[in-house]
Amino acid sequence: MQLQIDKLNIPGEGRRPLIIAGPCSAESEEQLLDTAHQLKDKGIKILRAGIWKPRTKPGGFEGMGKEALPWLQKVKEETGMLVATEAATPEHVELSLKAGVDIFWIGARTTANPFAVQALADALRGVDIPVFVKNPINPDLELWIGAIERLNEAGIRRIGAIHRGFSCYNQKIYRYSPMWQIPIELRRRIPEMMMLCDPSHISGRRDLVAGVSQQAMDLNMDGLIIESHCNPDCALSDARQQISPDTLEQLLGNLIIRNGIPSSENIDMMRQKIDEIDDQILDMLGRRMQVCRQIGDYKKEHDMTVVHEMRYSEIIDKWEARCEQLGIDREFINKMFGLIHQESIRQQIEIINNKK
Ligand code: PEP
Ligand code: MN
Repeated sequence: MQLQIDKLNIPGEGRRPLIIAGPCSAESEEQLLDTAHQLKDKGIKILRAGIWKPRTKPGGFEGMGKEALPWLQKVKEETGMLVATEAATPEHVELSLKAGVDIFWIGARTTANPFAVQALADALRGVDIPVFVKNPINPDLELWIGAIERLNEAGIRRIGAIHRGFSCYNQKIYRYSPMWQIPIELRRRIPEMMMLCDPSHISGRRDLVAGVSQQAMDLNMDGLIIESHCNPDCALSDARQQISPDTLEQLLGNLIIRNGIPSSENIDMMRQKIDEIDDQILDMLGRRMQVCRQIGDYKKEHDMTVVHEMRYSEIIDKWEARCEQLGIDREFINKMFGLIHQESIRQQIEIINNKK
């Protein structure tokens, strides 16, 4: 569908980076006001705070609920900041609007559920308020765009996107894999839409937040939404990834904001793609070697030799045919797969000889 996205009309728009900061959750009036005042003193104009928290398992801190709404109002009165919160149900929308919430975001788990998004879109029909749509928790660009379309169809035009990383099995460094190619593709598809990065949820650890923020800036994102808490270690949710307002100030001061000269931007994006592909190649190689070792075990058990000439020739023929289709040099592929094959054999020989 043809989207109609307007400017969000919020402070900081148009000047990179637009910053939204605040605690993962509003925990108490004191915590929220203390954090808000500190952030305001550092120039932050939009406060985030979760009131209803989607937790993976019951028993975690599920947010203070509507009890926290008056604290948000107080933040507005005392600091003049705008306040943003997550809405996951029509009831959240209704209560928050009554309490004067200025900006909504739709959480990753909600974006992944078209029924929930439709219910929110219906609840927001006729309301002129900026809504940020976080990427769905699973790496599915169409689902992300679908949520944006549902809101847009309901007449919401002030829509932005938040890239907060994707849930992947066997995550290593990050809590949620950034898979930068997905937000980059969203930008290409809807260039007029504001895109923020949420380095806190991607990182899951406070020492990674600055690096991810810089990367987001280098990819020309419009801004950042960062979790900041007056006492991060004691936070009731996402403690490990929250940073103090002082650390946030430092992080922002150290950010290098490069200007988007189109050609260098393109190069950054292409390099990013290359990095992603290299990661995938390494992963695949690791998996290939693992299977080779399993075959090694099997061969040992069944007293088979490691190398079977017929099998190797078959493999080479297959690679060569594929090279032709892909426009890859035959000699290069022979060398590269030769090395991979050699290493596979080495590992299998090791298994056959060493594992008794
Ligand atoms: C949050 O912003 O605190 C949050 C719960 O986000 P997400 O939906 O990205 O997990
Ligand atoms: Mn959080």
